[in-house]
Amino acid sequence: MKYPWPQSITSHYHRLIDPTDSQDPLAKMVFYDSREENIAKTELLDPIGDQKHQVLPCLIHRYPGSVLVLTTPTCPQNCRFCFRRCLPPSPPPNWSKISAYIQKHPQIKEIIFSGGDPLTLTNPNWIQIIKNLKPIKHLHFFRLHSRLPIADPQALSPDFFSLWPDDKNLTLVVHVNHPREISPQTIKLLKTFRQHGWHFLSQTVLLKGVNDNSQVLKKLFLDLWQNGVKPYYLHHLDSVPGTSHFRLSISRGLKLFTGLRGHLPGPALPTYVLDLPGGFGKVPVSWLKKIGPKKYQVKNFQEKTIIYTDPF
Ligand code: SF4
Repeated sequence: MKYPWPQSITSHYHRLIDPTDSQDPLAKMVFYDSREENIAKTELLDPIGDQKHQVLPCLIHRYPGSVLVLTTPTCPQNCRFCFRRCLPPSPPPNWSKISAYIQKHPQIKEIIFSGGDPLTLTNPNWIQIIKNLKPIKHLHFFRLHSRLPIADPQALSPDFFSLWPDDKNLTLVVHVNHPREISPQTIKLLKTFRQHGWHFLSQTVLLKGVNDNSQVLKKLFLDLWQNGVKPYYLHHLDSVPGTSHFRLSISRGLKLFTGLRGHLPGPALPTYVLDLPGGFGKVPVSWLKKIGPKKYQVKNFQEKTIIYTDPF
């Protein structure tokens, strides 16, 4: 990883930041902070164990029914807590090899386009990708994880929408962490996706000093749901190097999350999840059973018992 992680902010996002507020939550997510130089022993270069499940360059097969592709290392801007910033460089995905792998595994029903940010790919890139994947009959679900609708909602070319097949289920998962990130331009872009038949989910990272506040989280999830986006995941922060100033303890996170119950319409409440280090997959944080100071026990999706130590 380049150190320090370069600062990169879109002009759209810059305009959302309040320059008079030294504690602006949006600024904290994109401006360099010298505390990033403090690397804790518990922090990991590959915090969610992507490499353990890499079956081809850029292709991760962690769960039986879905694969995830690291489509590009590029993002519209750099989140200071990015969980994939320390992965070693890799050659770009080979889409004919990826489609051959998926063809051979009929249990794979879904492909997740991740990164980096897949919406930074060009239309010719997508034409080639879709040409490879569209013929796979058992691959029903295309899911795209992106922060572009928040960081640069006017960047997408209008031709993008006509590229997608209408016989696949298309879902956009928007990475959004604060209600002030949902601009009129973001809402307009979501409407365009909806007009073209896309479904919406969101994912949010729980960050100290940014959104560790029940009023902020309530407003965020309500605003998303009101705009047709189902809040999907609230992520406990991964053990990313140099992010301890953003970290909450498991018990604090759980307290915040349980305080939201009953105050939001049911579908507006996401699942609060932890991606277990070592590549064991996601578990709802409420499944963790405390077995000692900072020690938790949990069964993952394979029914394996995992011991998790809270790095807080
Ligand atoms: S959008 Fe995701 S991949 Fe891109 S910098 Fe932010 S956390 Fe990292």
